[in-house]
Amino acid sequence: MTTRTWHGGQLRWNSETRAWSVLATGRRDRPHVGRAGCPFCPGPGEDTPPETWRLSGGDGWLVRTVPNRYALSDRHEIVIESPRHDWDIPTGTIAETAAVLSAWQLRHRTLRKGAAQVAVFRNHGSAAGISLAHPHSQIAGLPVLAEHARRDLETAREHHAATGRRFADDVLAAELAAGSRIVFADEQIVAFSPFAAVADYEVSFLPRRPAADFAAAPPETIEALAHCLRVVLAALQTELGDPAYNLVLRTAPTGYEDAPFTAWSLQLVPRLGIAAGLELATGIPVVTVAPETAAARLRARVSPTIAS
Ligand SMILES: [Zn+2]
Repeated sequence: MTTRTWHGGQLRWNSETRAWSVLATGRRDRPHVGRAGCPFCPGPGEDTPPETWRLSGGDGWLVRTVPNRYALSDRHEIVIESPRHDWDIPTGTIAETAAVLSAWQLRHRTLRKGAAQVAVFRNHGSAAGISLAHPHSQIAGLPVLAEHARRDLETAREHHAATGRRFADDVLAAELAAGSRIVFADEQIVAFSPFAAVADYEVSFLPRRPAADFAAAPPETIEALAHCLRVVLAALQTELGDPAYNLVLRTAPTGYEDAPFTAWSLQLVPRLGIAAGLELATGIPVVTVAPETAAARLRARVSPTIAS
């Protein structure tokens, strides 16, 4: 029975599945609070640990990062994405979302020191595990590399050795050639429903010029990504109401920032609550809407006003 402690958290190794799980008992105590008593809203009720970073603007802050009080480890931070309790990506400006993505880049560079990987994610809606409605995302350094990340790295390395190209280069070329799974694309970013999606209405976001390290992406790519996220999330809301989702950053693990074979991407996974039993029983995701259908529906919902 192998355990590892890491900055206040504990990891346990499952030697049968060869996978780590995180034990973070403090997370059970996470408060479920509404707007009244929100600790992230500026004002007298604001209640967070001392901030680690802020982007100032207006007469206060626009984005700030604080240690997560209900942390997986003490390398776990919250990005408070806006002073506004009801802010969201589809209704916010591109600059506001770009500022959040820039915060991800900055804190990623700091939190990856001494960590094997840094998880970056945004949960939206209670079905996605949200306990606090104020818009926020999370950045957590981990001392081990998840098994699926190790596998992805191996696949990418073998692909590069055999072809001289990144795996993502070929995915992008195939998706652009097929066209049927593209949700939205501009000169910088391509958003598409993956061929073998893991969830209904899953969307991947890849830069046209794939690169290993998200934290090193230039400002024009970050701005384009913010625009693309806004377009796709607005389309998703129009098509499905306001579904819960997890938005996950996939980027090079620590030490692979300059690797020629790996590539960063964003993965949007709506939580529509379908077929969870079969997935648990077999480990195989079940999708009930064909990715080609999902992409066509989302494409049809792209608002010309938002997309322009
Ligand atoms: Zn709030």
